[in-house]
Amino acid sequence: MSAQSARSAEYDLLVIGGGINGAGIARDAAGRGLKVLEVEMADLASATSGWSSKLIHGGLRYLEYYEFRLVREALEEREVLLNAAPHIVRPMRFVLPHDRTMRPVWMIRIGLWMYDHLGKRVSLPGSHTVPFPHIEYSAGLKPEIRSGIVYSDCRVDDARLTILTAMSARDKGATVLTRTRFAGAKRENGVWHAELEDVRTGARKAVTATAIVNAAGPWVSSVLEGVPHRATGAKVRLVKGSHIVVPKVHSLGHACILQNTDKRVIFVIPFEGKWSLIGTTDVPVATPEEAVDITEKETDYLIEASNRFLAKPISRADVVWTFAGVRPLYDDGKSDPSSITRDYVLELDDEGGKAPVLSLFGGKITTYRCLAESVLEKLAPFLPPMGPKWTKDAHLPGGDMPNYNAFRDEIFDRYKGFPRELLDGVVRRHGRRAGAVLGDAQRPDELGRNFGAGLTEREVDWLVAEEWAETADDILWRRTKCGLHMDAAQRKAFEEYMAGRKRA
Ligand SMILES: Cc1cc2nc3c(=O)[nH]c(=O)nc-3n(C[C@H](O)[C@H](O)[C@H](O)COP(=O)(O)OP(=O)(O)OC[C@H]3O[C@@H](n4cnc5c(N)ncnc54)[C@H](O)[C@@H]3O)c2cc1C
Repeated sequence: MSAQSARSAEYDLLVIGGGINGAGIARDAAGRGLKVLEVEMADLASATSGWSSKLIHGGLRYLEYYEFRLVREALEEREVLLNAAPHIVRPMRFVLPHDRTMRPVWMIRIGLWMYDHLGKRVSLPGSHTVPFPHIEYSAGLKPEIRSGIVYSDCRVDDARLTILTAMSARDKGATVLTRTRFAGAKRENGVWHAELEDVRTGARKAVTATAIVNAAGPWVSSVLEGVPHRATGAKVRLVKGSHIVVPKVHSLGHACILQNTDKRVIFVIPFEGKWSLIGTTDVPVATPEEAVDITEKETDYLIEASNRFLAKPISRADVVWTFAGVRPLYDDGKSDPSSITRDYVLELDDEGGKAPVLSLFGGKITTYRCLAESVLEKLAPFLPPMGPKWTKDAHLPGGDMPNYNAFRDEIFDRYKGFPRELLDGVVRRHGRRAGAVLGDAQRPDELGRNFGAGLTEREVDWLVAEEWAETADDILWRRTKCGLHMDAAQRKAFEEYMAGRKRA
């Protein structure tokens, strides 16, 4: 239909947004041979995709809302993503402590039976009930809790998943521009003419594209305002979710899922070795800017919901870090923010079969790969001929390792005498590319300055050269979580180093 116009545009696809969905679509499209430009107005994963609960999960509670399609797809993606990036996606057991005030056990068991059987499970073990006290699964919980139900999901480093996906897009030929804002576009002769702004300098430039994907997450509506389109009535519902981080509530590897008196569930997840990540909340907001920080009310809610189950109660004084994000959900008209669909909806607008703009609403980190396939299927009639689906069995950068622990041991062996914390961090972040990051260093001091928490100048060079890092925050909180492990003086010293590096 429009192969002709495709050739008259610089890009086949302009993707707006450097969250997980934008990165996933750019990667898939580039790998099928399309000419792709992805623009992100801030840093990759600086919005919702960096502030999630960091789970690759089927979403047990979505079964109550009959979201079977979403749950099946999400369950299957657990194994796909485990295989694609075993360094940043790890299996995790979840314990649901049970008492009489909660949903009855038979109901939970039915839900978990479906959870075990809806999607294909290869490596993840199934669910079972355990009487408490239990040597492992009642750890950290009140002794009066009499039983628990154990099941499997995975955890993920959400920001790194996004960045590795963008790296894969670039490896396949996509151009990825960060700190570049999409400022608007118009259709001319069946082609999009888009205006982009470099937010560092204010400089503007124009590009042409056959199709636009609006993956701007919480900003999906404001991006649409800068693009002529027929109003379809599709709306985004912004629902804020916040987390707190506290010293770990037990020393084992499993997470807990706790049912609150309001029927919501919260997760208590092992986090970065020393801590537990607790979340989340569901608070409707009108704009993304309203959801930058957790409120005291949300902090108290999470503490109270945890303390119903924890043997050693937590308090505000235990909170070492907090963060908040906004879910860009598809507005299905439901009033309760917890019951709004978590599934994704794709809205397409075109002009006489040309210059389509596809906007996406909702979605999960877990399902980003499938979402990208659906987007390309929908846009295919407007685009030049492209290759078949390819991402299901493909690795993300650094993910081509059959056995994570064996590979880590190889790195420990190769870099004998280097601090374990340093090597462990590099393997967790870069997987098979750890050797490329550390290079031929024979001694730790050959890695340059050590900023603390296992972060060295050598890795910073890699993050700047290969992963679009520009500021201290890009490195301390997104490409790594070293910021959490450093003290205030170390963070300040690193900020000064990055500022000096920028000036140089
Ligand atoms: C509290 C919370 C917990 C969650 N937990 C989970 C979980 O455990 N597991 C799971 O699977 N999902 C989870 N989710 C859902 C998941 O995080 C989101 O569905 C997903 O991150 C959305 O990604 P996105 O790419 O659509 O949006 P974003 O990540 O928000 O990306 C959109 C990007 O577009 C950019 N942008 C906007 N306007 C422009 C413009 N004009 N020009 C250029 N760039 C622009 C923004 O800067 C932003 O980076 C959670 C969400 C929240 C809020």
